[in-house]
Amino acid sequence: MTLGPYAVVLTPRGRGAVASLLVAGQGAEQVVAGLFRAAGSSQVAVPIGRIQFGHWARSPREQVVVCHKGPDQVEVHCHGGTVAAQVIADSLVEAGCRLISWHAWCAGSQADPLAAEAQQALALARTERAAAILLDQFHGALSGELREIADLLEAGSTAGASRAAGRLRQLAAWKRLGSHLTRPFRVVLAGRPNVGKSSLINALVGYPRAIVFDQPGTTRDIVTASTALEGWPVELADTAGLAASSDPLETSGMRLAIEHFSTADARVLVFDASRPWSKEDDDLAARWPDAIIVHNKSDLPPPGGPVGPAGVSTSAVVEGGAGSLACALVEHLVPEAPAAGAPVPFNDRQMAAIEQGLADLERGNGQQAATDLRRLLSQGGS
Ligand code: GDP
Repeated sequence: MTLGPYAVVLTPRGRGAVASLLVAGQGAEQVVAGLFRAAGSSQVAVPIGRIQFGHWARSPREQVVVCHKGPDQVEVHCHGGTVAAQVIADSLVEAGCRLISWHAWCAGSQADPLAAEAQQALALARTERAAAILLDQFHGALSGELREIADLLEAGSTAGASRAAGRLRQLAAWKRLGSHLTRPFRVVLAGRPNVGKSSLINALVGYPRAIVFDQPGTTRDIVTASTALEGWPVELADTAGLAASSDPLETSGMRLAIEHFSTADARVLVFDASRPWSKEDDDLAARWPDAIIVHNKSDLPPPGGPVGPAGVSTSAVVEGGAGSLACALVEHLVPEAPAAGAPVPFNDRQMAAIEQGLADLERGNGQQAATDLRRLLSQGGS
């Protein structure tokens, strides 16, 4: 695999907002330099460690990001879908690269099981931001960190064990984010009929996926729409209104709504700010104390009378009027984002091994913790 330059399309065909290609092997830099045109710069080669925005020479409208990861390792990111990645792959082949299938390439890099897992996870990444974090793990961020922690533990000093515990805790803190690099966060909106749930989803997604009707109670099924909020993959679900109803169809919709709502990564309760705050509103808010409260229809005059608890003010009909909800969701789902190059575990077994290591350390058994981490490094987590 090291003879001459080769190219691999890392992301699956036709999926996601971004496609990533790896150009590697002897001569990879020269091949990319011959095909990439950096924006606002006459410089041909992208220095190691740098990311450069520009376009692909054979296809001037194709915007790409080139990332020079290391000697003989260049990544090219372009728009998702089949066309852009194919144009880039074809021109790399014309320039002398061998095109290697993703599966063949995976099979050839089993030397680092965590890197191989990162490649597989990459196929499921839906956004560039998620893909970038997984690519960092592919390039050794997680395995390097685990190796250093195991070294610290094996050295056997108390100070070393305490530093190792701190670093393991930092890894464990990415549990929620790590698991959502390969599957979207589930956000569920609920509330009484006609408060604007479907309209808010439309506003967040930016196109009319959910259907809005003027009659209350028309959203009977769970309607989902996928989007990215600040680059994080999110699936938004609308529910039947959580209001009492004798209509049997509505009732089964409500049951489904409650089930979806209680298992969501973020629960959003939407209220109509143009109507007086009611006893039913109070009951709903009290039932879900950890939900994000949204007062929608803020473009309409306030009704006067009792007001609800503090929350996010939105308007689904005003341009940008759902922005405050997008911010509140990101704050809730990803309160802290990893720095570029940070180690982030991204599957359940990696996380289980890290948590097991922490538990061993808490029992004072640093050597066992090191063994857990070495096993993860040699066998991977899947
Ligand atoms: P749902 O039943 O909660 O999903 O409510 P819909 O999204 O179907 O909206 C019900 C009605 O309220 C529709 O006529 C929407 O156009 C209207 N609506 C939704 N959001 C707003 C808003 O922020 N401001 C105003 N003025 N009308 C809204």
